[in-house]
Amino acid sequence: MNVKVALSSPDITRHEIDRVNEVLSGRHLSIGPMVERFENRLAQYLGVKYAAAVSSGTAGLHLAMIAAGIGPGDEVITTPFSFVSSANCILYQRGIPAFVDIDPETMNIDPNRIEERVTDRTRAILPVHVFGRPCDMARITEVSDHYGFRIIEDACEAIGAECMGKKVGTFGQSAVFAFYPNKQMTTGEGGVVVTNDPALNRLFRSLRNQGRDDDGTWLHHVRLGYNYRLDEMSAALGLAQIERIEELLAKRVRVAGMYAERLSVIPEVRAPATPPGTTRMSWFVYVVRLADDVDRDTLMARLATRGIPTRPYFSPIHLQPFYASSFGFKPGDFPVTEAVARSTLALPFHGNLSESEVDLVCETLQREIRAGKRSFMRSRTARCQAVATP
Ligand SMILES: *Cc1c(COP(=O)(O)O)cnc(C)c1O
Repeated sequence: MNVKVALSSPDITRHEIDRVNEVLSGRHLSIGPMVERFENRLAQYLGVKYAAAVSSGTAGLHLAMIAAGIGPGDEVITTPFSFVSSANCILYQRGIPAFVDIDPETMNIDPNRIEERVTDRTRAILPVHVFGRPCDMARITEVSDHYGFRIIEDACEAIGAECMGKKVGTFGQSAVFAFYPNKQMTTGEGGVVVTNDPALNRLFRSLRNQGRDDDGTWLHHVRLGYNYRLDEMSAALGLAQIERIEELLAKRVRVAGMYAERLSVIPEVRAPATPPGTTRMSWFVYVVRLADDVDRDTLMARLATRGIPTRPYFSPIHLQPFYASSFGFKPGDFPVTEAVARSTLALPFHGNLSESEVDLVCETLQREIRAGKRSFMRSRTARCQAVATP
């Protein structure tokens, strides 16, 4: 079946094309002026002193872990309901992800259960603003201040979101944003790590550039570094996108509003709620929760045959084969995460979805939920009859 509605889509205009062409007509394809322009514009938008562009959000998270001094055996508190890189970055430094289960309403780390996981090896907390919905930063800051460990925000899904009137990514020692093509804004591949600390900023710039010193002397390496640089074409795309960020976010708000209105009449589907403390949402994906009597995976398959692509956001990190086999995690370890993960569904979502496309998604969703229930009832009746027949 042909896909009728795109699951996600970048928003590229003439402006982006012109900016990238500017680079291609110039002399620098890497380590040039565009990265700096992009970084300055990002820092200005976020209200932070420094932004270091990197080749991916994951690369940014890795650098943030290095800068936080995470080493073998150090524990970093985070959520198992996230994209795998928010835990992988801890493992890159031989640290230990100390998972805390989520709040079923906000789907973010449960702020009331963080203290249970604090030990004398706790070095940092990595809250993830899942789906662009801010974590409870008041409570997280309170706990981290009390025990004296750092906050490093995974804001990869949340550019522009605000908690208590303050942009996410400005609460911790550093924060990371990501620009993969399905995010609110894109650079193709890319990310940024932001901070207000000048020493950390210098460290990020050295680490992403093969461990070169501040002056960038070519064959002189003062620390173990990486090639996590963002190239000039990607930075140009990013600059064009950050120049349009308010428009990009507003278009997504509009689509989220259309979904909320149409889904309100489907009793088996719950639209995402706004977490307490949120003063601004930034819509990354549109994830709904299904009632217990709807089989999510069957529904996804039925929707796919009707040309409506969906995704099971997220599949818990602790149950990924690598994590389960390396750490012995098993089903039941984080029951709230697992229950939420079983019942959530990301619908097609991007800023250019039309009203008729949203209508089509919602009508198909409603029809397939009902059809799924009927076939479930039929098979149950058949099973009962089979049992009843001697
Ligand atoms: C997108 C994302 C990242 C980073 O992904 P990259 O593909 O490496 O840019 C990290 N954490 C979360 C929660 C994400 O959604």
